[in-house]
Amino acid sequence: MAEHRVWAVVPAAGRGARFDASAVGAPPKQYVPLLGRPLLEWTLRALLDEPRIVGVVVALAAGDERWPEVARALGSTRIATALGGAERQDSVLSGLELLLGRAAPGDWVLVHDAARPCLAREDLAALLDALGDAPGDAPAGAMLGAPVVDTVKRERDGCAADTVERAGLWRALTPQVFRLGELAEALREAKRSGLIVTDEAQAMERRGRHARLVRGSPLNVKITRAEDLPVAAGIMESMGRTTMRIGQGFDVHTFGEGDHVMLGGVRIPHGRGVVAHSDGDVVIHALCDAVLGALGEGDIGRHFPDTDPRLRGADSRMFLREVAALMRSAGFALINADVTVLAEAPRIAQHRAAMAENLAEDLGVSPRIINVKATTTERMGFVGRGEGLAASAAVLLGA
Ligand code: MG
Repeated sequence: MAEHRVWAVVPAAGRGARFDASAVGAPPKQYVPLLGRPLLEWTLRALLDEPRIVGVVVALAAGDERWPEVARALGSTRIATALGGAERQDSVLSGLELLLGRAAPGDWVLVHDAARPCLAREDLAALLDALGDAPGDAPAGAMLGAPVVDTVKRERDGCAADTVERAGLWRALTPQVFRLGELAEALREAKRSGLIVTDEAQAMERRGRHARLVRGSPLNVKITRAEDLPVAAGIMESMGRTTMRIGQGFDVHTFGEGDHVMLGGVRIPHGRGVVAHSDGDVVIHALCDAVLGALGEGDIGRHFPDTDPRLRGADSRMFLREVAALMRSAGFALINADVTVLAEAPRIAQHRAAMAENLAEDLGVSPRIINVKATTTERMGFVGRGEGLAASAAVLLGA
């Protein structure tokens, strides 16, 4: 196998019709959040974790607006995109055509469902290892599968009409791996004869070419319906694929001279300003402290000391962007953030959306996972007496 490189193609142009067709505006299945990240991101991460895979082509729907966020989160130079088609096999073929321009026809290409994020490292390794066996009578490729363990019934009129002999039956999983040139030809042939295949092995079988069956974990589930998501989340957690970190932060500034306050990067007119070395944005300071806390990186004062003359009057959004970069370099992504402003005045209700937008932009995430809310303290304490304002923030990070 050493002389042939290994590539991967992931068809991700579909809508997932069986998933939740009723939800208007819901993301396509490959982008639904699983443990706080798009499904597709987990799936691609599983492939990128295998160093023998030199490149991954993702076939996307035209005008896919969600992809750039996933690409940014993955930050891999091994990923390329192709324009997907109407059927899964069209998307796979499109990915293969792209590869034919940069790979040898004898190179291996594995095709993996976008909706199988629970692919185990050992299964992927075993699949690739199987390609190196017995060069003399080598099979056309290899695929992951799982022997059927349940008794299988054939249904007729709502009744179990008869029992299907279970011996020798396997469930076809992915990845499935074949020679690039041969698989492309098999899929073109299927297309010419108007045949819809549900996996790549089926297209190869028509040519009398067979994949070696490699026994994979039955936990390599395909997410088909919404109720599969919690199952997949549980599997991912049991595989140790996720690490969660929680963090909280709190910040206070006293009112002083001025005609506005900065909150969440929004300039809000007010009869007073705040006393601060920087722009005194308590929302951003609390949020930075929450993220730094989750990372075990101390606090904002350690990273941006108020003795630093360069930070006088600084735009706090710069702090947040630096903290976000630190978070990413530590391999973490924000799952969600919740911020509470404590103030008698100014009122911030009409600024909440703009604040969430700013925070999301600086953190490089969607505003949907940032919640900003506010409360007074019923005229009690320093906030209640109008001596200053405060904010608290909580974040959850995942890796
Ligand atoms: Mg502060």
